[in-house]
Amino acid sequence: MPKSVQSIRGMNDILPAQTPSWRWLETRLQSILMSYGYEEIRMPVVEHTELFSRSIGEVTDIVEKEMYTFEDRNGDSLTLRPEGTAGCVRAGIQHGLLHNQQQRLWYMGPIFRHERPQRGRYRQFHQIGVECFGIEGPDIDAELIIMTARMWQALGIDNVRLEINSIGTPGSRAAYRQQLVDYFSAMHDQLDEDSKRRLHTNPLRILDSKNPDMKDLIMGAPGILDALDGESQRHFEGLMSRLDEAGLEYVVNQRLVRGLDYYSRTVFEWVSEELGAQGTICAGGRYDDLVEQLGGRPTNAVGFAIGLERLQELVEQRAPGMELTQLDIYLVALGVKANVQAMQLSDSLRDEIEGVRIMMNCGGGSFKAQFKRADRSGARLALILGEDEVRDNTVGVKFLREDTPQESIDREQLAGYLRSALL
Ligand code: ATP
Ligand code: MG
Repeated sequence: MPKSVQSIRGMNDILPAQTPSWRWLETRLQSILMSYGYEEIRMPVVEHTELFSRSIGEVTDIVEKEMYTFEDRNGDSLTLRPEGTAGCVRAGIQHGLLHNQQQRLWYMGPIFRHERPQRGRYRQFHQIGVECFGIEGPDIDAELIIMTARMWQALGIDNVRLEINSIGTPGSRAAYRQQLVDYFSAMHDQLDEDSKRRLHTNPLRILDSKNPDMKDLIMGAPGILDALDGESQRHFEGLMSRLDEAGLEYVVNQRLVRGLDYYSRTVFEWVSEELGAQGTICAGGRYDDLVEQLGGRPTNAVGFAIGLERLQELVEQRAPGMELTQLDIYLVALGVKANVQAMQLSDSLRDEIEGVRIMMNCGGGSFKAQFKRADRSGARLALILGEDEVRDNTVGVKFLREDTPQESIDREQLAGYLRSALL
């Protein structure tokens, strides 16, 4: 036999046993987004490479080493999206959604990064992203954070920590950047290779290093808040007072700068204690300069992204036996005549009973074989259509999880009977 082809490392199938809890998670999150009036937008998963190098920043983990970039048949350089914000901004500019108006948008879908696969870190993963345009804040920054808190509550997730920081404006960062260069230069021989390189290209990136050996050094670095300009400081205070008002606890983490270059002012992360090293389930911030940088008119913007695989792991831990979509009825049909009628019967039951989930036996089989499938299907009851039933215009009913005898119900009474039996 030829060797079978395997999936790409770090790109996972989500199997039928897992999709119900994924769907549950997605539906809950989406209904919260809708309850705040946010609208969905869908973008392509492939964009021109330039979009990402111009927005995320050349000297970032993502652009330096994580992008899936390839030439298409026309020789254009394309990239599988390594995040959603750039594409959303591109779409907003392209379709005139951003100028002189407010937008509160969300999207969901796969994201691609060539990272080392491990728990909570994959090469294809999924995000729900949210982007708000045209609002200077800090009320909108607070709304985003409060909305995410509501999401965790709806999913039954506690034990999450909110970290916030302000990284000011590009102008106010210049002075801080110099402080960092001075600090890290004095420790030059303790820096890892990435950090040495970044010391002169993008010293703020050093703070975002994932290398545990760099941790102490980073903790000792000067904080950014002392270097903030007045406007950014007022913005940050406005955010904190709103979070206080909402009763949300948070930690100010002055080393939180986020892994992308486009942020300004507010940055935040939600970190779970239950996921090991990859604990950040949601991250975001303000990016007031990005729209202009990508060719639009200056537009305030703030957003976040949730990593769904990590959230999914938390939800599974919490509710392993979650009551999920299941089948109501499995229709057993014996003989060709019954098989033909079963198809009509199941379709008319779908018309007669709102929302009923009914699976018809296909592929024939003995009574015993069909009942085995019925059991395995997880359905609550089996309907049986044999020669006798076809002749008498009746249907057999057998509850699969109860020890009651099979009953025979007239076809005319069937829908009414099932409606109350399935309540
Ligand atoms: P990390 O610090 O874990 O590398 P990041 O700062 O690169 O995260 P963002 O670009 O902010 O992540 O993406 C938002 C969220 O997407 C993260 O908080 C995380 O939950 C999730 N995420 C990021 N990278 C991955 C990945 N490779 N696999 C699974 N989830 C991921
Ligand atoms: Mg990363």
